[in-house]
Amino acid sequence: MSYEPVIGLEVHAQLATQTKIFCGCSAEFGAEPNTHVCPVCLGLPGALPVLNREVIEKAIRIALAVGCNIQPRSRFLRKNYFYPDLPKGYQISQFQSNDEMPLATEGGIEIPTKNGPKKSA
Ligand SMILES: [Zn+2]
Repeated sequence: MSYEPVIGLEVHAQLATQTKIFCGCSAEFGAEPNTHVCPVCLGLPGALPVLNREVIEKAIRIALAVGCNIQPRSRFLRKNYFYPDLPKGYQISQFQSNDEMPLATEGGIEIPTKNGPKKSA
């Protein structure tokens, strides 16, 4: 029996927005702890997120830069789980499958290898 190693990477990027993605709190780095928070980003009961338009505009720009297809409709999902540094108990995210309606699909970057260029998935 032989095995083929398959390695996947989850890459995160921070968009250079003035405010956070789901509230009006400053996204500035280096502030004093607990100074850029509100009921929404603390996940307090009854506080509902509002999507930051600047995030979508910048996300579409990077998606187009890597050859993605921008979807006409998109949605975010709330993933509920416990994690020690996530006291509110959930994360708002998008999944990559088309059924889950991410903002952009396909696309990728070309990586030079000794066997010629290879396109990322
Ligand atoms: Zn906030």
